[in-house]
Amino acid sequence: MAGRVKDKVALVIGAGSAGPGWGNGKAAAVLYAREGARVMAVDRDPAAAEETRRIIEGEGGTCAVFAADVSRGGEVAAMAVACLERFGRIDILHNNVGIVEVGGPVETSEESWDRVIAVNQRSMFLTCKHVLPAMERQGGGAIVNISSVAAIRGLGVPYISYTASKAAVLGLTRSIALQYAPKQIRANAILPGLMDTPMIRRPLTAAYGGDEAKMIETRNRQCPMSHMGDAWDVAHAALFLASDEARYITGVELVVDGGLTLRSA
Ligand code: NAP
Repeated sequence: MAGRVKDKVALVIGAGSAGPGWGNGKAAAVLYAREGARVMAVDRDPAAAEETRRIIEGEGGTCAVFAADVSRGGEVAAMAVACLERFGRIDILHNNVGIVEVGGPVETSEESWDRVIAVNQRSMFLTCKHVLPAMERQGGGAIVNISSVAAIRGLGVPYISYTASKAAVLGLTRSIALQYAPKQIRANAILPGLMDTPMIRRPLTAAYGGDEAKMIETRNRQCPMSHMGDAWDVAHAALFLASDEARYITGVELVVDGGLTLRSA
């Protein structure tokens, strides 16, 4: 089924990978391109976004790179302008950025709280703020916001700011979905479970006393399928929600977790 987002423009925020291999944003950007979209790959790390561009162009696709810290309004506004200048429209807004800082309410400093809320929550408000007017002018669009099952379940590691920010993403998504439904703009959230992506390595290994193998083994064991998911599992869910196949689906919270949230313990 090639061409599922043919002729669309996808603005993928956090399109680089946090480390070697496939992160959720990089996989989504590449999959949108494989399915016919022109992609603007946005990341605060331009080298990471360039790698995504190289992969897409190497496969014959079209990709432009824009470096921005999307927790900053001015940079997000410039990003939206750049995408419109380059491609003329924005059909898909894919909000992938998210960071984890481990700690409960007592251990978390105010600076850490503010940093995580700014990157995980404020950024999605800002990208929607600056992209929605273009979608409205075009007469439609699709927003995919990456939340986490951490928004709705405890996962064994206390990260209060991450949990709170990912829950806020759900409220933001529902609110936009309802307000913009009359304008044919859809907004949906994906809640990945325990995924084996580069981003988990550093912050979560610290929560396991620096023992990465133990962290990986514990996460695999937590999953009903006995293994974590990967970036492609999230990317395929995003592709569906962003495509016209999901044209009557808005405001949903799509859990991609191999059954993790079915467990009571
Ligand atoms: P990723 O897509 O590999 O990396 C995200 C990219 O976003 C990185 O290149 C990162 O740069 C960039 N970024 C971070 N803050 C940014 C900012 N303020 N402005 C612009 N770019 C920024 O990461 P991932 O692990 O696959 O996770 C992606 C999303 O999935 C996150 O929202 C995460 O919360 C969610 N998620 C992941 C899991 C999991 O188990 N992996 C589970 C549930 C949900 P830096 O490397 O410089 O930070």
